[in-house]
Amino acid sequence: MQPSSLNPAFLSTITQLSGGPWNFGDRVLLVGDAAHAITPFYGMGMNVGFEDCTMLMDLLRKNRFDFEKTFRSFTDLRKPDTDAMTELSFKNFQSLEESPDPAYHTKWLLERRIAKLFPTCWTPTYVMIAFSHLPLREVPEIKEREERILHSLIRKHPDILSVADGALTELVKAEVGEELYLPSDLEYNASNVR
Ligand SMILES: Cc1cc2nc3c(=O)[nH]c(=O)nc-3n(C[C@H](O)[C@H](O)[C@H](O)COP(=O)(O)OP(=O)(O)OC[C@H]3O[C@@H](n4cnc5c(N)ncnc54)[C@H](O)[C@@H]3O)c2cc1C
Repeated sequence: MQPSSLNPAFLSTITQLSGGPWNFGDRVLLVGDAAHAITPFYGMGMNVGFEDCTMLMDLLRKNRFDFEKTFRSFTDLRKPDTDAMTELSFKNFQSLEESPDPAYHTKWLLERRIAKLFPTCWTPTYVMIAFSHLPLREVPEIKEREERILHSLIRKHPDILSVADGALTELVKAEVGEELYLPSDLEYNASNVR
């Protein structure tokens, strides 16, 4: 079905929200979509809201349930993570637009092979976001580094997907040197790689 044939009466816009502060003194604190609605392209909106709750509880405990102090600091402490998720989610929309491109599939398949060959030091973006407690603000930089490596490998070796595992391991090592990310607190499980 062509977008032009859709009835506009049944369409709505997808909006993202980034503002602040999220509190009104010690009386009101916004969490979840009310504070930072994101586009649905990583399916993470609810999870980010749940993370708000755990972070808020941790902070309240740390501040001995001083609501004013907690509410005042919450936006600044939390916003870098939710801003990162907002950006990641929107960028994923742009990637999905590229997905019919064969180059996108090559990159996608290569990343999954590398993640299986280097299960403790290559973490696909989705795994970092959805299956770890890595602060979301750290994801864009790691993602950018991994993308750079993937693009470079594909550019230098256009037939890279047909290379056997042993040779691929060597190609990756030669490409990245010591640059592979070693997760410290990732609850990483290679079986989560899709
Ligand atoms: C298409 C789509 C797919 C998604 N997929 C996923 C996914 O796979 N995984 C994921 O984690 N997230 C997903 N999300 C996001 C997720 O649904 C939201 O992030 C989540 O529901 C936000 O929860 P919330 O409690 O902050 O807000 P809401 O769920 O919007 O809850 C707010 C509540 O407040 C009520 N309310 C509003 N105004 C008033 C008022 N004046 N008085 C009283 N009540 C009021 C509303 O009726 C509502 O019940 C998706 C979202 C969309 C749109």
